[in-house]
Amino acid sequence: MFDSLSSRLGATLDKLKKRGALSESDVNTAMREIRVALLEADVALPVVKEFVARVKEQAIGQDVVKSVTPGQMVVKIVHDALIDTLGTEETGLNLAATPPVPILMVGLQGSGKTTTSAKIARKLKNDQKKKVLLASLDVYRPAAQHQLQVLADQAEVDCLPIVKGQKPVAIAGRALEEARKGGYDVVILDTAGRLHIDQELMDEVAEVSALTEPAETLLVSDAMIGQDAVNTAREFNEKVGVTGIVLTRVDGDARGGAALSMRAVTGRPIKLLGTSEKLDGLEGFHADRIANRILGMGDVVSLVEKAAQTVDQDAAERMAKKMMAGKFDLEDMLVQLQQIQKMGDFKGLLGMMPGLAKMKKQIAEANIDDRMIKHQEAIILSMTRQERRHPELIKASRKRRIAAGCGRPVQEVNKVLKQHQQMATVMKHMKKAGGRKALMSALT
Ligand code: GDP
Repeated sequence: MFDSLSSRLGATLDKLKKRGALSESDVNTAMREIRVALLEADVALPVVKEFVARVKEQAIGQDVVKSVTPGQMVVKIVHDALIDTLGTEETGLNLAATPPVPILMVGLQGSGKTTTSAKIARKLKNDQKKKVLLASLDVYRPAAQHQLQVLADQAEVDCLPIVKGQKPVAIAGRALEEARKGGYDVVILDTAGRLHIDQELMDEVAEVSALTEPAETLLVSDAMIGQDAVNTAREFNEKVGVTGIVLTRVDGDARGGAALSMRAVTGRPIKLLGTSEKLDGLEGFHADRIANRILGMGDVVSLVEKAAQTVDQDAAERMAKKMMAGKFDLEDMLVQLQQIQKMGDFKGLLGMMPGLAKMKKQIAEANIDDRMIKHQEAIILSMTRQERRHPELIKASRKRRIAAGCGRPVQEVNKVLKQHQQMATVMKHMKKAGGRKALMSALT
């Protein structure tokens, strides 16, 4: 759901990455684009303003840590600020009250309230072995009560029997009574949806809330609603006091702004995400995961930390010097392979690299993995030093010997040689394009 925002931020920060130092004008440029990206992602204007101001302030004041590019630094700051806005506190449902614990579901019509009520009931029953009672207070939409009954059957949880003509507040009272008598742990009250904020219905929810004193009042909201998210969230929060937000349809191509806006406006945590029409499509909310997804560049922060710990600056410097002389032999390739291994899980690492997250699918298809790197290393180690320095010496009979030496097929030896050639060509181009600095930044 956060795709357009992530590609947008990605493009901005990739640009910045090519710069040498993090100046005030760099930050301003980046922030202008981040602002546009957030607005395009339907984040509400006041939220965007606040977010951008905070990030800018942090970015300008901060030193660029050694061995981190300015772009990576900004990624970290934006990333942290996103997490901050999305919230880091524990977001599980609060069921600590004396049973039956009432949960009140509120939101606009079609937001996914009824479906989410059944999803939550199912989850509490399966994961926490809770005895749950579902009750629909929607007496306005034809068949709403029946719909909840059908979903409850699917989820294999109980649903309050329908009594024709009963008013919502009376239904809520009956639900609590039934839940008490039946020894239920939780009672989920699905209120009537509204097309827009409407005083009469709002008063009704407030009345139900006053009667039942819910432990949780969950605002269910469609991830697609964009700018309107702010008004809806504010209204519900002011009138009935929301305790948490459930964002539905995050499986669709929503632009993601709702998550940021609603959180920022209400100050309430996003507790759950709806990820499909099916009853098992409900997930917990993790700010860091969403922030990573928004940025589309994985956890650059830990990449940077890992890189700083493991990459040998001197070795990189030596290699850069050699390559400046137009040389990149198999020994250099070996050093690179070893560096990669030192940095840990290769696929995970690729996922963390800015820009490369976009290529994850291709990487998975190309079948690059840790084992393959180990094999490549074994092949190069099976060569003589002379062969490594002069790959052109490696003809058919040497290839067979190398293959036998490391227990890999000759085709793989050929592949390594071909790959080396490609890398050497890239290094040459890089040398032409950017000189020593580009080489160093490619190596570290
Ligand atoms: P209500 O009017 O707020 O009670 O909304 P409903 O629960 O009736 O949901 C409206 C429509 O959205 C239904 O067709 C649901 O199947 C669908 N829906 C609800 N949640 C999700 C979700 O997380 N993902 C998808 N794709 N569809 C959902």
